[in-house]
Amino acid sequence: MKALKEKCGIFGAWNVPEAAHITYLGLFALQHRGQEGAGIIASDHGRFRGRRGEGLVSQVFKKGSLEDLKGERAIGHVRYSTAGGNSLKNLQPVWVESSNGDMAVAHNGTLTNALSLRRELEAEGSVFHSYLDTEVILHLMAKAKGSPKERLMKALERVEGAFSLLVFVRDGEKTRLFAVKDPHGFRPLALGRWNQGFVLASESCAFDLIGANFLRELEPGEVLEFKDAGFESDRLSLKVTPAPCIFEWIYFSRPDSFVFNQSVYEVRKSLGEILAEKDQQQGLKADLVMGVPDSGIPAAIGYSQKSGLPFEMGLIRNHYIGRTFIQPHQEIRDFSVKIKQNPLPNSLRGKSIVVVDDSIVRGTTSKKIMALLREAGAAQIHLRVSAPPTKAPCYYGIDTPTKNQLIAANLNLSQITDFVGADSLAYLSVEDIYQKLKPSSKMCDACFTENYPVEPKDISIRP
Ligand code: SF4
Repeated sequence: MKALKEKCGIFGAWNVPEAAHITYLGLFALQHRGQEGAGIIASDHGRFRGRRGEGLVSQVFKKGSLEDLKGERAIGHVRYSTAGGNSLKNLQPVWVESSNGDMAVAHNGTLTNALSLRRELEAEGSVFHSYLDTEVILHLMAKAKGSPKERLMKALERVEGAFSLLVFVRDGEKTRLFAVKDPHGFRPLALGRWNQGFVLASESCAFDLIGANFLRELEPGEVLEFKDAGFESDRLSLKVTPAPCIFEWIYFSRPDSFVFNQSVYEVRKSLGEILAEKDQQQGLKADLVMGVPDSGIPAAIGYSQKSGLPFEMGLIRNHYIGRTFIQPHQEIRDFSVKIKQNPLPNSLRGKSIVVVDDSIVRGTTSKKIMALLREAGAAQIHLRVSAPPTKAPCYYGIDTPTKNQLIAANLNLSQITDFVGADSLAYLSVEDIYQKLKPSSKMCDACFTENYPVEPKDISIRP
């Protein structure tokens, strides 16, 4: 499945020597959350210096380009471009100068009332520099009165939707860093320890790269204010109703991360185990199980371990294709599937195979993979999806196709099976996942159930 895109990843460093360099490494580990742009802002005795650009982290930051980003505090961002475009002004962290002092924000998520707020702020004289929903937060802070924390709290009382944030505020010669998670806790944000300092990241895999210790996930509605050698924890005044994104476990996060306090790899293996249990109950006979690389592999391993079916690779992914999947022309996308996945005929010829993928979005990629496997000689293909049918778009920070492009919103199980060209097809149910994983709170599952935790008032920030 490749049609859903995480929009952003964020990383922050506090009291860390060469904080911009550590942030650069952290963003490398979060590159899967956004490949279209990257940025870092560092603070040195209250003075901000930053660099943002289009492309991968390695393309934006060349040798020597971090040298002038001095200081022991930094925040960074990787972005996947959406309808707002990816020009420099739409990249993050967003940085503004105001009479209240410089402020900068790195945001993972999407605000669902940003357009209404923007219209209100513009009517009051605010001048926006981008189409980013994130900029609304800075304008609200600039208008608010009080200490940096009071201004941030007041601003966040007005916004709705998904926001995991890292916020820099200049306060005289000092910089304050705040880490915030919205009251639903849609997107992950983890806290780590790095020697005498602290680091924050969308996923704990970023801590592994730099040798930091994972401390914990921020709670929904939690605000951390970093001061001198430590931090204080507080809560937003908004009602906390946890709804972390279930798709972070299923697809978006890296399997080597701990997200929402669970190992993503173990979660995905568990989902594969459920699929195997259901097939065993149905008496399915097959010769092997394989996963669609890379994201279907952990669930396929779980399926194999539960069922006893041998695990085979079946498809080999070419990791060096880059971003051909974002090319706008259909014929190039068709081509990209073939050059990304190459089947292993010796493993597949004459075999009845179980193929595990993490989701079917439009169905077009699955259809091509089924055709590749048949061409390689697979006799029977039983496609198993380690998620429920994706029926509705996300408004909380994931770039999804519209409902009329989501195959499960438009076709029934039998029609989808025919469309993709499988011999059989089965999904998990939302109940299957909750029963197996027993999450500590209700999660957001709106792209499967259409039960949206926050009403999506404004679909686009563009006026
Ligand atoms: Fe996650 Fe789906 Fe909810 Fe979006 S709608 S936050 S992708 S579960």
